Amino acid sequence: MIALDTPLQFLKGVGPRRAADLQRVGLATVEDLLYRFPVRYEDRGTFQTIASLRPATAASVAGEVISCGIRPTRRPRFKIFEMLVRDPTGALRAVFFYQPFLNDVFHPHQRVILFGRLELTPHGMQMQNPQYEILKHDGDGEGASESDDETLHTGRIVPVYEKTGTLTTKMQRAIVHQALAQLPPDIPDLLPADVRARAALIDRRTALLDVHFPPAGTPVEELNGFRSAAQRRLIFEEFFLFQLGLVLRRRRSEGERKARSVVVTDDIRESARRVLPFKLTGDQKKVIAEIVEDMKRPQPMNRLLQGDVGSGKTIVALMAALVAMENGFQVAFMAPTEILAEQHFITIRRLLEASRFRIALLTGATPAKKRREMQAELAAGSIHLAVGTHALVQDPVGFRELGLVVIDEQHRFGVLQRATLRAKGLHPDVLVMTATPIPRTLALTTYGDLDVSVMREMPPGRHPIKTIAKPESRRDEIYDFIRRQIETGRQVYVIYPLVEESEKVDLKAATEMADHLAQDVFPSYRLALLHGRMKQDAKERVMGAFTRGEFDLLVSTTVVEVGVDVSNASVMLVEHAERFGLSQLHQLRGRVGRGPHQSYCILLYQYPLTDQGRARLKALTETTDGFEIAERDLELRGPGDFFGTRQSGMPTLRVGDLVRDHQLMEAARREAVNALDDAQQAATLAAFVRTSWEQRFGLVGIG
Ligand code: ADP
Ligand code: MG
Repeated sequence: MIALDTPLQFLKGVGPRRAADLQRVGLATVEDLLYRFPVRYEDRGTFQTIASLRPATAASVAGEVISCGIRPTRRPRFKIFEMLVRDPTGALRAVFFYQPFLNDVFHPHQRVILFGRLELTPHGMQMQNPQYEILKHDGDGEGASESDDETLHTGRIVPVYEKTGTLTTKMQRAIVHQALAQLPPDIPDLLPADVRARAALIDRRTALLDVHFPPAGTPVEELNGFRSAAQRRLIFEEFFLFQLGLVLRRRRSEGERKARSVVVTDDIRESARRVLPFKLTGDQKKVIAEIVEDMKRPQPMNRLLQGDVGSGKTIVALMAALVAMENGFQVAFMAPTEILAEQHFITIRRLLEASRFRIALLTGATPAKKRREMQAELAAGSIHLAVGTHALVQDPVGFRELGLVVIDEQHRFGVLQRATLRAKGLHPDVLVMTATPIPRTLALTTYGDLDVSVMREMPPGRHPIKTIAKPESRRDEIYDFIRRQIETGRQVYVIYPLVEESEKVDLKAATEMADHLAQDVFPSYRLALLHGRMKQDAKERVMGAFTRGEFDLLVSTTVVEVGVDVSNASVMLVEHAERFGLSQLHQLRGRVGRGPHQSYCILLYQYPLTDQGRARLKALTETTDGFEIAERDLELRGPGDFFGTRQSGMPTLRVGDLVRDHQLMEAARREAVNALDDAQQAATLAAFVRTSWEQRFGLVGIG
């Protein structure tokens, strides 16, 4: 017998070598293995007769091997293993490419099951690279499936796993099968019995068995739609655990006390008014009021500010900073990149010029000597506001009295920082800002431990950005248009996609494009290239020069996506727009339209265009409202991918899906709050959460 925490190497059929392979892909224990769920299921349960097979469909066939062998081809390394299988209705050819070892696996008279897609070829109907299983055992190959007569890979509904490292779906299926066969009759269930009863959920053990090997007769569509009883149970379990974590974290921060909280006097109001360069929008005023209310309370603020690109979040944060500084506190203002930190620094320095407050920029690029000086000043309290990257709150920076931490454009980062701060015994107010709009219902359940403020209004005087989608063939017109914009003094972004898998190729494409534009298309204009592989200081030089208007065009990969503010830039040209996600395009578009000039976002696309790609471009040309874009993105991409974007701050879930399963999430939230009210139960649950929260959800801070 094994337990869930048994290391995989003690599993029958898994030796130390295989265990090491598994470890490499993050699977150490039986629990890790069993909680890596199938990504989909295939129904290989019903055999079809060979006579009834149709081309271009997938089918399971059971039959006997008549003949088999390697067919030579003209290319020496390209070997085809071929076999003929017969059932009472006819014969079928199966071919396997690049698998000469099969010659030792199969021989005539074996009974086999094949599952695969059928093609009609000049040689008749054939199955290419089918999944196979040999029914009668005669001691050969077939990896770990040797143990019993039950078929594993065919003849049933089979789970399909994501291939990770050297672990194939077939190997994983076999090992999971082993593990389940040895699972003890009793395994601990973190869902209390009454919760399970109320939510009509099956027990954990059955759920684990069924999720990997669904009972015969389960409709495959139900499984692939994640609606089976086993899946529902496991999704609920995951959400319940997640919500326990959120509720515990929330309760914990409610128990925290700041050293002291701020007060707001008429003098402070007056000083804020002096700093303001413009009239605040209604939403900005509302949100500032919410923030200041938090700051006056004895518990530390824990607020998320959502506002579309360009909605004016910076000034909101600065107002909060001013209140803190007027109360004698220091402020840390953090941005995700050095470029952004520098931009914030420049903006804030300008706004605070006439005030008595001293501000400093502290990033990874700050020279060591300067850095030491600044650190000394922070410790002495003579620097009131420090702008920087995460280097700011990491060791060894000590503030004299840190009252407020502002974190721009990075929610997850915010959560981590809070934990870092708390570990140092600090309990400042924390304001996290994000331009990623999240539909309200989702925000409530996923940011359950944060207070959320939303700004939907845009500052006045903006000309809505004109968005145009054009096929690549219209390039020349676009270039003419860009020339005219530059002639009137504007600046232009040209964005190239950078897909991670083909980063090198894309980088080359971007670099070549920059050369081409510089030499052939815009020879009389000043052009710079910016990409993620450049050294930090080189990036900053380029970005700084572009900001100062020293370049007319900036050819860039998506590094300019977040937060960069060049108000003179009026054109955002996106190459291969069909390759970008909707939200990403929206973020890119937000880089223009930040000044008094009419701005344009031009989406150049190439054929072929998928329906989704077309719908994305259409959505973008139809609306500039980030929340609407988010809703459409959700619809288009389907729930699974919506939050897949980096730094979205969303939990990494294994089975649950925030959109598809949002009702289960809400039920899990209610039950989690409920369950924690019972003190005895709460202790057990808290212990459970503590061990799994961090790894499961990539979040910290349960304590
Ligand atoms: P984001 O929310 O994307 O961080 P920013 O804070 O960078 O937006 O603001 C975008 C631009 O709008 C800045 O140039 C800022 O000065 C300007 N802005 C912000 N609020 C107002 C306002 N109430 N009136 C006029 N301009 C504003
Ligand atoms: Mg911003």
